[in-house]
Amino acid sequence: MAIDFGYSVSQPRAVDLDRNDLSLAREIVREMPEFSACIACGGCTATCTAGNLTSFNFRLVQTLVRRGEYAGAYAEMNKCMLCGKCRLVCPRGINTRGVVRLIKRKLGDY
Ligand code: SF4
Ligand code: SF4
Repeated sequence: MAIDFGYSVSQPRAVDLDRNDLSLAREIVREMPEFSACIACGGCTATCTAGNLTSFNFRLVQTLVRRGEYAGAYAEMNKCMLCGKCRLVCPRGINTRGVVRLIKRKLGDY
């Protein structure tokens, strides 16, 4: 009989880019090449107005989109208020509001 230690081992979660559909991510990068310059520093998320009020995590959503994991991205991006604070702190100078708008335009069906 298994002993209940009160915790369980996490299931492995590998990102398989070869199996993911990257076509939309590539379209987004084609239209806005700076989208691929993100270094995932998290500055945008740390300063995000919507993130202070909701579970919205801009870095996470855009990272998932770049990986071809689009499910829920449109709904998440709807939480953005387009205030622009993230753009002010981004060390790569990414037009983050533009990224939000482009992702919403491209992923409207997801
Ligand atoms: S602040 Fe800029 S570089 Fe850093 S995670 Fe956000 S978008 Fe990427
Ligand atoms: S523009 Fe959107 S993602 Fe950027 S800080 Fe404002 S609410 Fe957050």
